[in-house]
Amino acid sequence: MKQHLDRIADYSKVVIFGCGGVGSEVYKHLKCEVNNVFISICDNHKKGEEYFGIEVISPEDACARYPDALFIIGSELYCDEMISQLRDIGIDDDNILSDLTLTLKYLRTTARQYLQKVDYHITEHCNLKCASCNHFSNIAEEHFADINEFRSTFGRFAEIMGDKLEGLILLGGEPLLHQMINQFLVSARNLMPKGYITLYTNGMLLKQMPQGFWNACRHSDIVLSISVYPIRLDIAEISQIAGRQGVRLSFLVRESWFKDALDLEGKQDVLSSFSRCGQANGCSQLKNGRLFPCSVAAGIEHFNKAFSESLSPCEKDSLDVFSDISPQKVLEFLASPIPFCRFCNKDAIEIHPWKLTDCSIEEYLPR
Ligand code: SF4
Ligand code: SF4
Repeated sequence: MKQHLDRIADYSKVVIFGCGGVGSEVYKHLKCEVNNVFISICDNHKKGEEYFGIEVISPEDACARYPDALFIIGSELYCDEMISQLRDIGIDDDNILSDLTLTLKYLRTTARQYLQKVDYHITEHCNLKCASCNHFSNIAEEHFADINEFRSTFGRFAEIMGDKLEGLILLGGEPLLHQMINQFLVSARNLMPKGYITLYTNGMLLKQMPQGFWNACRHSDIVLSISVYPIRLDIAEISQIAGRQGVRLSFLVRESWFKDALDLEGKQDVLSSFSRCGQANGCSQLKNGRLFPCSVAAGIEHFNKAFSESLSPCEKDSLDVFSDISPQKVLEFLASPIPFCRFCNKDAIEIHPWKLTDCSIEEYLPR
């Protein structure tokens, strides 16, 4: 990727093709590492939607508008098809960057200059229960986060990171199940006056949320991000309510699903797992006064309890945020594999259509 970054610096315009997990990762990294480059995003299925404040256009439009740009392929899964498509619409091979394995390995193992966001679970359990949930909320017992623990852990972390922390994601489980959700929102904003704060929800409870919730969202400048699953959800009415309440909404369509397979014996190579992990260096989570690099290490207690397993994280799998740490130490920690990565089998990742859980261990094991 270092060579890639040098190559990108030769271009005044870059188009990221694909705005899924990989495309987003590429975007975030470019924003950190490359100056003075115009970035556009194109996608076959998300034309007109907005990502990172950029309107997504079609590959054809991107080709017409930016024929000399560098096109970066933002998908591991559909890489070959995307290259063919770009060639068919007239993009020269020299203007296509598709070496994603190396690119992603570099992105994940290089300390960022700032932390784009950190996650915090408001609840561990969920009212939807998707198969293979990588937060283990489908099998987690009911658990509500403690507001004082949130204030102390996130407050300390925000203080350490200062302007190196850009945002906070409040999620779960389903965070709207928490009776004190409003206090979390207001506290989050008090503790981080400037950054962005997003509340992730599956949206099922939104229509019945009381006025106080909408007031807290509006006053604290919280964006609601609705994960849209193939379930009945009145998006039009929810959008109307949010519009009336002056609360910003965004949507993330979740029709297909990554199954993160675990290796119960822990025999995987940690660097190999980490460098192929969609959560690595991008999905850190604060929990119990510690910073974990991912939801898997942070939530494995639920898996262990549900299936009587013992894939326990060790001290080195997380950072004690109350210890003597600096922003640099945090950013370096997040760019390094942890011992727990030996339990993640990235050769066995599967993509399947979304479905409800049957709470079997097979949802987390290779086929
Ligand atoms: S809605 Fe989200 S948190 Fe809940 S089970 Fe599904 S993936 Fe997990
Ligand atoms: S333990 Fe490592 S490989 Fe597994 S999800 Fe977390 S960061 Fe990724």
